[in-house]
Amino acid sequence: MAILKVTRLGHPVLRKVTENLSPSELRSPATQQFIDDMIETMKDYDGVGLAADQVHESKQIAVLEVSDNPRYPQKPKVPLTVLVNPKVTPLSDEMEEDWEGCLSIPDLRGKVPRYKSVHVLALDRGGNELDFVATDFHARVIQHEFDHLNGRVYLDRMRDFSTLTFLQEFARYWLRS
Ligand SMILES: [Zn+2]
Repeated sequence: MAILKVTRLGHPVLRKVTENLSPSELRSPATQQFIDDMIETMKDYDGVGLAADQVHESKQIAVLEVSDNPRYPQKPKVPLTVLVNPKVTPLSDEMEEDWEGCLSIPDLRGKVPRYKSVHVLALDRGGNELDFVATDFHARVIQHEFDHLNGRVYLDRMRDFSTLTFLQEFARYWLRS
């Protein structure tokens, strides 16, 4: 396994719509190795999610996991999930604002409105169909990664930039609000 280099905002690959994977492409040893590397990279960077274009591959693959994460303490846990060719649709118009950060936009946090619950259709890494509902922080992480796969970042979703803050100032001024 290998830890991959994470693209930062400004790299054109982050603004491209990623490509669907065919079943044979998903099954290939190269793709399976790449998924292992994505998982290792996400863990090494203390991320709760990672999209393939964040590691220079314009493909419809995202990985997510929320465990005891120093970047996001006290968040509900989400098991390790691999989403291939995902389709994400909101279950209602209800939205909620909360803090997000991004490994491709280091050192910053901002408040982002997201749908509270979403329906997810995707394939897992074995090509099996996934069909589930995600709510709250789980739904937020999925919307963040789904946006990446469609060339968007969380800054695009912010209502305005008044909450945009560096991590040091976040800890100092915002952590309790
Ligand atoms: Zn991100």
